[in-house]
Amino acid sequence: MATRRGGRRRINTTAAGYGHQHQQARRAVAPFVESGAARCSRCGRPIAPGTPWHLDHDDVDRSRYVGVAHAVCNTSAGARKGNAMRRQRRLTPMEAAELAAIEYGRRETAYWAEVEARQRREAERPSPRIY
Ligand SMILES: [Zn+2]
Repeated sequence: MATRRGGRRRINTTAAGYGHQHQQARRAVAPFVESGAARCSRCGRPIAPGTPWHLDHDDVDRSRYVGVAHAVCNTSAGARKGNAMRRQRRLTPMEAAELAAIEYGRRETAYWAEVEARQRREAERPSPRIY
């Protein structure tokens, strides 16, 4: 069996859609995302401030953005799931395992976002004064 050495194909960042325009677009939406108001284009959940996030490209037209996504939701495994579902084929065991790991990561992310939100609410609440 012929195996290509070196593993992943190298694509320069501009060709992959991650060039200067990408950087600018990312900078433009960063304040919105960091405010915690953005929702993930992949899972639909809010993106908690401080959570790693990506600008999410259209899988078909790489020059278009569909929004912002949790980094964990925007991984190649996540994209493979979408592609597999669009093609109506079954996942390979490796893909299924990757997806289970991603789902676990999402739940962790959601859990910690909830914890942080609760801590923020408590920090903002005026402390009771005793006179
Ligand atoms: Zn997500």
